[in-house]
Amino acid sequence: MNLHLALTHPIFKIISQSAAELGIDAYVIGGFVRDYILERGQHKDIDIVAVGSGIALAKQVAKNIPNRPKVQVFKTYGTAMLKYEDIEIEFVGARKESYTEESRNPIVENGTLEDDQNRRDFTINAMALGLGEANFGTLLDPFDGLKDLEAKIIRTPLDPDITYSDDPLRMMRAIRFASQLKFTIESASLEAISKNKDRIKIITKERIVVELNKILESDVPSIGFLLLEETGLLEYILPELTALKGIDEKEGQRHKDNFYHTLEVVDNIAKNTDDLWLRWAALLHDIGKAPTKKFSKKVGWTFHGHELAGSKMTYRLFKRLKLPLNDKMKFVQKMVFMSSRPIALAQDVTDSAVRRLVFDAGDHVDDLMVLCEADITTKNPKKFKKYHNNFKLVRDKIVEVEERDHIRNFQPPVSGEEIMEAFGLKPSREIGIIKEAIKEAILEGKIPNEHEAAYALMLVEGKRLGLKKNEV
Ligand code: ATP
Ligand code: MG
Repeated sequence: MNLHLALTHPIFKIISQSAAELGIDAYVIGGFVRDYILERGQHKDIDIVAVGSGIALAKQVAKNIPNRPKVQVFKTYGTAMLKYEDIEIEFVGARKESYTEESRNPIVENGTLEDDQNRRDFTINAMALGLGEANFGTLLDPFDGLKDLEAKIIRTPLDPDITYSDDPLRMMRAIRFASQLKFTIESASLEAISKNKDRIKIITKERIVVELNKILESDVPSIGFLLLEETGLLEYILPELTALKGIDEKEGQRHKDNFYHTLEVVDNIAKNTDDLWLRWAALLHDIGKAPTKKFSKKVGWTFHGHELAGSKMTYRLFKRLKLPLNDKMKFVQKMVFMSSRPIALAQDVTDSAVRRLVFDAGDHVDDLMVLCEADITTKNPKKFKKYHNNFKLVRDKIVEVEERDHIRNFQPPVSGEEIMEAFGLKPSREIGIIKEAIKEAILEGKIPNEHEAAYALMLVEGKRLGLKKNEV
């Protein structure tokens, strides 16, 4: 089969010509070929295999590009990278690999194209296109990757048990591709992943997180998380989630399975946002339920304080997985902490409750609403409709209250300095009390969020505290 239409981008002619100048064969391989056949749009990183030196080929290619892009050489890996327009092109010499127990970094020697295809993780990632004059665009597909693409199957070129044991990161990649592409992992592969799950320990957290994020970013993330759970990998990576599994029953009272509920919430939110961190918040919004679960005869199952517990767990989880401990983490914490607020509100939509919600959530109030709508997983169509309608009311009210009161990013309408000046005070406890009273009055809707009304209230409060107005 010839797929030269995949190679219309001018860079491929340049690579072809450069390889000819060096007298070596070159091929484009992996994700670019796969995604072209799947019509997934232009793959932004192109992998080139040279039967010879990948570094020499990269340098030759750079010479043949008018503006001479810089070549980044990774000597230890024998690879080189250059950027052409918005495309990153990686060059590697065809290689044969053999692995040791302790590390996912193999011993490497030069090899043929076939050797190089053998070391690839999946049949659908081992397809190559020729870049020589005689074979330009010819598909080289020794493991029937094309057939697996059509059948939507993830399969390893060689024995899956060895493939995953050699480089356990491939277990994460298999599940990530299954989730991204909605493919099925072939059963021998799935068994091999379960068997080798403990080997994931030799993979760095950073690499695991790259794959986790790609799973979370896929259209239906539950595909990936269910596979992680089924193979036993999730227990190692995110035990906070597996702890949510199961339904307990006492005295005829049951609670829902919070693990499957969580996955539903994540799938729901994936339809409404591409924001990775909001998706993380959906994934973690109920993790506090495992440690706070209690049963009492009177009220049945409760999870009191799970939002606070969950937000604390979020910090520890981010730290453990080496996720960023910056404003993204704080955002996820805040979403987890506030995740029950709008639901409580939707029972009874009052202006003051909405004002408080906007005050506490600040700029994240819209994200919080997206999270809480995704959280509605009831199978009762009447309730489903009712909750969504209530949230619509809440959203309308947020707009209304916002227009009137400007509570988002609240700035006190009377400053501390003004209070000090009015009563001739030095910094003191009274100032805080007055400020708090003004804020409360605004949130309760007793006074508008304006200077004049707030100043008047300040005078009243000051008097109540026995302060004397400073006459000037
Ligand atoms: P994407 O770019 O969407 O992550 P990709 O298939 O291009 O998908 P890359 O990480 O860019 O993945 O890797 C490029 C190619 O290198 C893959 O298609 C595969 O052939 C090979 N590869 C990558 N990682 C591994 C691995 N751990 N084991 C074996 N082969 C791998
Ligand atoms: Mg790629």
